[in-house]
Amino acid sequence: MNILVINCGSSSLKYQLIDMNGETVLCKGLVERIGIEGSRVKHNTTGKDKVVIEESLANHKDAISLVLDTLVDEEHGAIKSMEEIDAVGHRVVHGGESFSSSVIIDDEVMKVLYECIELAPLHNPPNIMGIEACRELMPSTPMVAVFDTAFHQTMEPDNYIYPLPYEFYEKYRIRRYGFHGTSHKYVSLRAAELLNRDIKDLNIVTCHLGNGSSVCAVEGGKSTDTSMGFTPLEGLAMGTRSGDLDPAIIPYIMDKENITFDEVNELLNKKSGVLGISGISSDFRDLEIAMENGDKRAKLALDVFVNRVKKYVGAYVATMCGIDALVFTAGIGENSSYIRRKICEGLECLNIRIDAELNNIRGEEAQLNRDLTSTAIFVIPTNEELMIARDTLGLVSK
Ligand code: AMP
Repeated sequence: MNILVINCGSSSLKYQLIDMNGETVLCKGLVERIGIEGSRVKHNTTGKDKVVIEESLANHKDAISLVLDTLVDEEHGAIKSMEEIDAVGHRVVHGGESFSSSVIIDDEVMKVLYECIELAPLHNPPNIMGIEACRELMPSTPMVAVFDTAFHQTMEPDNYIYPLPYEFYEKYRIRRYGFHGTSHKYVSLRAAELLNRDIKDLNIVTCHLGNGSSVCAVEGGKSTDTSMGFTPLEGLAMGTRSGDLDPAIIPYIMDKENITFDEVNELLNKKSGVLGISGISSDFRDLEIAMENGDKRAKLALDVFVNRVKKYVGAYVATMCGIDALVFTAGIGENSSYIRRKICEGLECLNIRIDAELNNIRGEEAQLNRDLTSTAIFVIPTNEELMIARDTLGLVSK
């Protein structure tokens, strides 16, 4: 069975066609600049040369149409006809409280997806545009929505209720939701596989450290706590997002700088985090180089980042009463030996002992602890597309 996985952003679209017999990627690609001059698709069919096709794309429907044409293209494609696509799995950022697992898309589900827009006004609309376009172009192909928030719906109220007047939860559904759920789920399942243990018996802390970052406590296979909250702004210091702050700072800055809600929102989401502290970059590669060249603020930014991750790891080990595995994933987690080492330094009290030599890897699956009686430490490259495809297969083959 072939599953097409679609991940729509506001002006971009990532896709993969996966043959689920053997879970092999038949082809993948990225459409860029949708609705902007210079739109193109970069397409890569396994075993063939990569191609870039430039074509004017006014909207997401045009983009999906071009992707489908490319998939069946005689020269660059991976399949002969659209009939070879058995189902489509769509990434959806926010499922609110309505979706605690992936779901087959029908008219009723679409209605609820629209209702979730107010919870994720930047992310859900392009996800929905992608779904609408696919439903129009492939009306008889089953579609599944896979939510970033769903994995965290197992959190208990003591973790998801904010200490605000309770009516705000009742009236506006203001609560902690958590994000990156598909990634946390994938890497925790893979960690259990690597340990050759039943995930139900394991306490795992997963660190998804990328441009957006979050930590998750996975207890017996279920997310019991995670660092992102009502929005992806809560928790760790990130590339450009502040993460946790004293909320009193916000009106204080607005008053001092005479700025509006939109401006303070932009400040906290786009100009803060390690970019804000360093004044250099949100990219950890640039910051590591700047630090090596003696830049004190670059070092401070990395120290703040590391410090926050350590605090969350410690908190989750405490609430789970133990840890069997610590997992690093996403751009920074998979690639930065420096950040992994600094996070683990000083956590020996939690039986976390990283091995300097084993840690000297980039972008590949590896175990980083040599002493097998200590907590397992893994780098596991995330694979959200495969997780989406697996969920899609599970639902459509029922
Ligand atoms: P992601 O959001 O998962 O794509 O991660 C993107 C982030 O990964 C970038 O902002 C980089 O800071 C970080 N990254 C990628 N490669 C490296 C590397 N070799 N060393 C440190 N950070 C890296």
